[in-house]
Amino acid sequence: MKKIAVLTSGGDAPGMNAAVRSVVRYAIHNKLEVSGICRGYTGLINEEIKPLDRRSVSNIINRGGTMLKTARCPEFLTDEGLQKAKATLKKNEIDGLIVIGGDGTYRGAIALSKKCGIPCIGVPGTIDNDLNGTEATIGSDTAVNTALEAIDKIRDTATSMERIFVVEVMGRESGYIAMRVALGGGAEDVLIPERKFDIKKMCQDMVEGNTRGKISWIIIVAEGAANAEAIAKKITDLTSLETRVAVLGHIQRGGIPTAEDRIVATRLGAAAVDLLLKGQGSKAVGIISDNINVVDLDVAVQKKKIPTDVIYNLIRVMT
Ligand code: ADP
Repeated sequence: MKKIAVLTSGGDAPGMNAAVRSVVRYAIHNKLEVSGICRGYTGLINEEIKPLDRRSVSNIINRGGTMLKTARCPEFLTDEGLQKAKATLKKNEIDGLIVIGGDGTYRGAIALSKKCGIPCIGVPGTIDNDLNGTEATIGSDTAVNTALEAIDKIRDTATSMERIFVVEVMGRESGYIAMRVALGGGAEDVLIPERKFDIKKMCQDMVEGNTRGKISWIIIVAEGAANAEAIAKKITDLTSLETRVAVLGHIQRGGIPTAEDRIVATRLGAAAVDLLLKGQGSKAVGIISDNINVVDLDVAVQKKKIPTDVIYNLIRVMT
């Protein structure tokens, strides 16, 4: 292994830059050459590639987004696209590739590894924390903290104006962010894709609470669980209480990465380089109980089962 490349792909996540920096500096420390591929798999197909040195990743550890840019690339799903990507890697004498992204990015790496014989290592970069083989994904801690900060602000209005706020957070298939912010932000209830919910019961509790003098509620909805507007309307219909909706949207993706995300990113970037140096491919790195964990990419993309009972029950006791 003489020369490796790194790319970021799919949805951006805070801490991706810290991971790129780690890959570059750890690889150079181990006498490897490193190239950066811009715009994920799009750049691999179009040969948007540049050499990276220690200084080219200066002052990015604290920046959100990704200096390599990221993209979604439908062409990469075709055999032709895959062959173009392989040709770029061969032409530039890249011996191994590190991809930083979510499950889609990992599936791309599986295709490159299996169909083209390129050793690929996945580094988990997604705010959803929905990859197997790791307790944390880069960006999820920052996203939770960003959403929490917004909810704290909403709470001021909810309390002062005596309103019910339905707050939609990101998570199309994962209730990770919703559960964390609901517990950390003191929300009264949470709707997540992993669990059925009983809106009538929730509304009964609201009416009962209201007669006891409770005046404001914050209900967190993961975007994949329900439509926040529809939930708010249903609550008003069933309780006659006034509701407001806040959709946090893309603010959850950006911003300065937390200490935790930078630390995880730096450890995992280096761990990915180590695997390539050991001649491994088609693996994903992760962290479990503060130790580096390695799984096959195939395993990493299998649906992650997060236990929801403990946190879910606690949220509902804290009302
Ligand atoms: P994320 O990595 O954040 O989950 P996406 O799901 O958008 O983001 O995936 C990023 C890119 O990975 C896609 O645009 C596509 O180029 C590639 N990709 C996704 N799924 C596959 C697949 N099944 N096979 C090959 N490449 C894939």
